[in-house]
Amino acid sequence: MSFDKLNLNKALISSLDDLGYIEPTPIQEKAFPIIMSGKDMIGIAQTGTGKTFAYLLPILRNLKFSDQKHPRVLIVVPTRELVLQIVKEIEKLSTYTSIRFLAIYGGTNMATQKQLVYNGVDIIVATPGRLVDLSLTGILRLKDIKQLVIDEVDQMFSLGFRQQLLSFLESLPNKRQNLMFSATMNEEIEAVIAKYFYQPLKIEVTPHGTPLEKIIQVCYHVPNFNTKVNLLEYLLKNDESLNKVLVFSATKKLADSLFDTLKLRFPDDVVVIHSNLSQTARINSLKQFHEGTKRVLVATDIVARGLDITDVTHVINFDTPETPEDYIHRIGRTGRANKDGVAITFINEAEQEYQVAIETMMNKAIPYESLPEGVVVSKVLTDDELPKMIDKIKQKKGKDNYVPGPAFHEKKEKNKKVNLGSASQKEKLKGKIRTYRRN
Ligand code: ADP
Ligand code: MG
Repeated sequence: MSFDKLNLNKALISSLDDLGYIEPTPIQEKAFPIIMSGKDMIGIAQTGTGKTFAYLLPILRNLKFSDQKHPRVLIVVPTRELVLQIVKEIEKLSTYTSIRFLAIYGGTNMATQKQLVYNGVDIIVATPGRLVDLSLTGILRLKDIKQLVIDEVDQMFSLGFRQQLLSFLESLPNKRQNLMFSATMNEEIEAVIAKYFYQPLKIEVTPHGTPLEKIIQVCYHVPNFNTKVNLLEYLLKNDESLNKVLVFSATKKLADSLFDTLKLRFPDDVVVIHSNLSQTARINSLKQFHEGTKRVLVATDIVARGLDITDVTHVINFDTPETPEDYIHRIGRTGRANKDGVAITFINEAEQEYQVAIETMMNKAIPYESLPEGVVVSKVLTDDELPKMIDKIKQKKGKDNYVPGPAFHEKKEKNKKVNLGSASQKEKLKGKIRTYRRN
């Protein structure tokens, strides 16, 4: 088998054999020798191209048996669900070894985790918050960490983990290997790399923010929440290829109201996940969707990063993501491991500026489709939409030179052509989008 080109050991080769993997993906092939050499590394590759094994294979290859108590490898990720997923991946690769690993994340009993850490562990996979809490108890000691992996770091910043991330980085021993993996990069991450990494090698399989060719992207222009609901219901009802559908919504509140609405029409098909739900509810929703017992998962960006859910056929952006990075990660939940996938984005008038930013980053327009005949365009605005509309009317009326523009639906022709604007406009737009987030 062509994993031969990597200098693996018998235990790893047998595990890969069991999984039926035939050859390393490009990022796995490129990262392996660099990580083995001990250098710091940044790995950029598209979503779903095997970044987890890109760091796990050399780390596990390197890890010698030891009965020491304190962990030697630390893998930090932004969400609890991702901790559990990565631990499962380690499990798959360590069938033929006696490596000790542990999942550390919030919403679980700290006393149990303390006991497990105390028993001794080689690899810790953690969210930043619980990691800091546990090390403050003195039971978890990070002084023997030789390798650090930060996976999906940009979501840590957006989830407000900045402080915790910097705090544990400060508490790690100086002599260590730093590894970072993502499909996208931003300036904040570059700053962390500049401060904490030592002469890192940057491996870019594709330029940052490149979506997978396999993912078919389309968008609809839809005026408001209720019409978006009508369109979503129409697609779910009329298109049987929407088999396993991940629907992203901008906020927890919107996710809940969308879930309540969809449940009326599809009572047995829909589950929801966001960070206000209990850990058990989060795990259950994800499990039922993953296993295919539920057709639709309504979610916030909490599941947008890193999660590898089997065979998601469609990602639907019920709300257009505010940053192009979020878009790339959201749509990357489909089309994974060389499978096909469709990403559908609903865009209202206010969200068109996000569309421009997304298309600018991808250097590609999202093909546009007209609303299907059967979709009722609703005039009823939600409580959240009403005040915004009133503000807008007031603003427009306040302007002396106000001339009523074409109605939103009349812009369709124009919107088919994507005008990416001047470079300075694009920059302005990017700056604007970065400064505020909804989730
Ligand atoms: P990324 O982190 O790049 O988004 P993941 O590491 O989650 O991607 O991997 C995506 C999927 O591809 C997973 O289901 C994983 O098990 C599978 N995979 C990883 N490496 C290989 C390989 N060499 N051959 C086939 N499938 C693989
Ligand atoms: Mg990943």
